[in-house]
Amino acid sequence: MTTPANPIRSTIPFDTDGVHHGFLRLPHSNNDSAWGAVMIPLTVIRNGAGPTALLTGANHGDEYEGPVALQALAHELQPAQITGRVIILPYMNQPAFRAASRVSPIDGVNLNRAFPGHPRGTVTQKIADYFQQVLVPMADVVLDFHSGGKTLDFVPFACGHELDDPAQQTACLAAARAFGAPFTVILREIDAVGMYDSAVEAQGKVFVTTELGGGGTVTARSARIARTGVRNVLIHAGILQGEAEPGETRFLTMPDDACYHAAPQDGLIEPAVDLGEAVAKGDLLARIWPLDRTGAAPLLVVAQRPGLLIARHFPGLIRQGDCLAVLAVEAG
Ligand code: CA
Repeated sequence: MTTPANPIRSTIPFDTDGVHHGFLRLPHSNNDSAWGAVMIPLTVIRNGAGPTALLTGANHGDEYEGPVALQALAHELQPAQITGRVIILPYMNQPAFRAASRVSPIDGVNLNRAFPGHPRGTVTQKIADYFQQVLVPMADVVLDFHSGGKTLDFVPFACGHELDDPAQQTACLAAARAFGAPFTVILREIDAVGMYDSAVEAQGKVFVTTELGGGGTVTARSARIARTGVRNVLIHAGILQGEAEPGETRFLTMPDDACYHAAPQDGLIEPAVDLGEAVAKGDLLARIWPLDRTGAAPLLVVAQRPGLLIARHFPGLIRQGDCLAVLAVEAG
């Protein structure tokens, strides 16, 4: 049931019971390989009729909790453990993942700003179109793993968005809660145009995403949270047998754009607050020291509102306009 105009083909069936490991094959003629292809690893596990979960990691190629948890799941999950179907793509943007890069090295496109994509567009646009036209319509529940990548670091959370349809929003937040991360957030996006999130939500699906860490690596703790979380979501969706282990979570919201703090100038960051710590309005978040001289006072960045630090710039140096800090508010 591929869209004729999109050249991506699956090497395995989607509607056959059992475990199938294969690829999405995307023809990519280039200087290194005249008749070559981008091969996106894909596992489909099916056991009879039932709901379908679509699970993705490395939508951004430098975020690793999703890839780790989904490699483990693809290796371990057996058809007898499920009812319905699980579609697993640990490396959604495979060229970006192989380059350890947020965006694709082939076309410079950020997959999570490329939706709905284009069947005759660039490599990344074709991947987006295939998800939009083929994979998302198959799904009842969609889990897309994110983390901070090389430039951001997050407290671990699963999240949903405010949606026009209150029933859909409730279902999405229930699935995010079921994931069982230490925090559950109603996320306010700074730039939602072209996101996979918006595309999936517009198709009426139950959508969960995460931010589980960052810095371009994974920790033992964040890997555990990701592995447990994906199983919890599958149990919540009625696909995987067993008992969910959702654990404690703290609910957070992001009431306004003042949650986001950008760097007013280039510099060397001295954080004044660590992830998970609470601040009042006006509290110091960070000093930004000059890169080119001694003896000058640092620029002080203060909290624009009260909240909990849920994300911070990761590298020691920052540029004007970079995201420095993100606050969220404990839900009453
Ligand atoms: Ca991301």
